[in-house]
Amino acid sequence: MPEIYQLRCRECGKSWGNAPRSFCEECFSPLEISYDYEALKSIASKDKLAARSFNMWRYAEFLPLPEGFEFPNAVGGTPLVASQHLAKKWGLRNLYFKNDAVCFPSLSFKDRVVATALAAARRFGFQTVGCSSTGNLANAVAAQSAQQGFDACVFIPADLEPAKILNTAVYGARIVRINGNYDHVNRLCAQIADRFQWGLVNVNLRPYYSEGSKTHGFEIAEQLGWRLPDNVVVPMAGGSLITKIAKAFRELVALGWVEEKPVKFFGAQATGCSPISSAVKRGLARFEPQKPETIARSLAIGNPADGPFAIKLIRESGGWAEDVCDREIVKSIQLLAETEGIFAETAGGVTTGVAEKLVREGRIRSDETTVVCITGNGLKTTDAIVADYPATEAIAPKLEAFEAYLDGQLAAVKA
Ligand SMILES: *Cc1c(COP(=O)(O)O)cnc(C)c1O
Ligand SMILES: [Zn+2]
Repeated sequence: MPEIYQLRCRECGKSWGNAPRSFCEECFSPLEISYDYEALKSIASKDKLAARSFNMWRYAEFLPLPEGFEFPNAVGGTPLVASQHLAKKWGLRNLYFKNDAVCFPSLSFKDRVVATALAAARRFGFQTVGCSSTGNLANAVAAQSAQQGFDACVFIPADLEPAKILNTAVYGARIVRINGNYDHVNRLCAQIADRFQWGLVNVNLRPYYSEGSKTHGFEIAEQLGWRLPDNVVVPMAGGSLITKIAKAFRELVALGWVEEKPVKFFGAQATGCSPISSAVKRGLARFEPQKPETIARSLAIGNPADGPFAIKLIRESGGWAEDVCDREIVKSIQLLAETEGIFAETAGGVTTGVAEKLVREGRIRSDETTVVCITGNGLKTTDAIVADYPATEAIAPKLEAFEAYLDGQLAAVKA
């Protein structure tokens, strides 16, 4: 029986079976997994799904998994938080945060893409896996490799946040720091994947990797009661996540699991690395590569691989893209924490700040259902906000000391 999924060229449509490759050898365009949706209809059902645990593997039929694949872990299944305070502040009636800051096991949505990539790595017989990473991907590769018995070797820009490097090192992964930005690292990794028999999750396994992002979208639709939202606000680095959420929604429509409706896709970037949002705002079909300069290092990709597809999606959906500066990112991290109790990393500050801007610009309206995607945990980027929280003075364990402390606080407020 032929498999119901295989690689297909996004430009010329040529099929390439299943193999560790990411672009078409005839026209050099990127490959994507395509499915036989008629066959999928006969094997996938909401009843089957309802009997499974709430994690990303409940959507197994929609993922490029090998025959007889056993789910190794419980990745995904994150909360969709109905906003109270920010919704009120922004004047929105139906605002949600999809909270992948608490994604298992490494606290970012990258756990989803690594889960499907490692399934492919196993199938293709790779023992060593790796990635080029802006931080979170390295964390996810390291954690899941440790659990599943792969050797991990990850490549990162030398100046990544210390917490992200530590969060990789602790799992025993080999870390190669590169003097250069992400785009330099990525170019090197393409050569390494050619030279060595390694499965680099976002290079030669990229089509299998990016399918994992769909589960973020499947969960949103299911958590809304099998309905699509009107708007989604998505952070963009390489531009893959935003296009895969759209693919997930299209697949649910194709299978008749949700009613078809227009969904506007809004892309979020940091002003210091905004090739995609700049192109959208200037009405260009192609982006101009940039040299990243922002605290949102997880989004700092100046030459985004899926940039053209993200631009096309945003425009055709009737959405928009925006960006926020570093100070706004910090303020938005604080705002989200203080109003919703969600501590997001810098990428979450980007998404929240951009959502606020879109509301102010009237692009997101009060009667619509809006989902803002939070993709990584704040404990990974504490360096971005630590200066705003100087340590307070310690007091003696005595009631008088506390009373004196309170008086001092009051005096400071009055002054
Ligand atoms: C990688 C990453 C993204 C964006 O991913 P792309 O699919 O490359 O656009 C968003 N948020 C966080 C926290 C990430 O690590
Ligand atoms: Zn082609």
